[in-house]
Amino acid sequence: MEEKTFRNYTAPDVSEAVKEHYRKMRKNQTFDYVNRMHKKYLTFDKPLDLWEAIRRLNELVDVSDPDLDLPNVQHLIQSAEAIRADGRPDWMQLTGLIHDLGKVMFLWGNDEDGTSQAEQWGMVGDIFVVGCALPETCVYPEYNALNADMNNPKYNTSTGIYEKGCGIDNLKLAWGHDEYLYQVLKNHKENKLPKEAMVMIRYHSFYPWHTGGSYSELLNEEDKEYLNIIKDFNKYDLYTKCQKIYDLEDVIEYYKPIAEKYLGDGPIYW
Ligand code: FE
Ligand code: FE
Repeated sequence: MEEKTFRNYTAPDVSEAVKEHYRKMRKNQTFDYVNRMHKKYLTFDKPLDLWEAIRRLNELVDVSDPDLDLPNVQHLIQSAEAIRADGRPDWMQLTGLIHDLGKVMFLWGNDEDGTSQAEQWGMVGDIFVVGCALPETCVYPEYNALNADMNNPKYNTSTGIYEKGCGIDNLKLAWGHDEYLYQVLKNHKENKLPKEAMVMIRYHSFYPWHTGGSYSELLNEEDKEYLNIIKDFNKYDLYTKCQKIYDLEDVIEYYKPIAEKYLGDGPIYW
């Protein structure tokens, strides 16, 4: 039986689009860019119902993903259903269903910020720390040199602007859907998701850390627990990708009470 491998970025069928996405992401995601995006997008003034947000993701195919070319809502349902099938807690099932919802950023994004359907380098893909040196564990590390911060002595050392052992929560990461949804839910008054869910949402794309093992100088004790949380979640984010097509309307009935339990039934402010 042929084994399916995931996240193979050197396979001959990985499209040029994936590579080009990472080239632009590495070049444009500077410390200054990330700060500008925080100011610009973290306004929490756009109300959108959770289910409407999930539906709108039907319009988006993640260009950075070499394993899946289905609308993103399918990936969300596949992840949630796999977590549910394993009998994991309801909050984790819900986390699977919403973990990529930060990609709704494309609804009010634009090409210049990399937050549109056509330009997704400010929205999706593996993230890294800005404000310190880019590690070799980034996919396509040959693009690290394109980032202007790597010529700035303030930002190009292994700790950069950070204190040793400051911990992940004190690092500024490349701007994208992880941080966006985390901040939106942190601001959401009715949010009762446990801390583990918030860690899964905020750091699931942080591959150079959770899979590459980089940034050890910046980590603290608590981050070891974060790593266990992420590893646990990651298998559902990654290994559930398949061509099975779900209908959102068929699964809403099951997930709606869970969503209301943890997020209330009012709109979320994006
Ligand atoms: Fe994601
Ligand atoms: Fe995902």
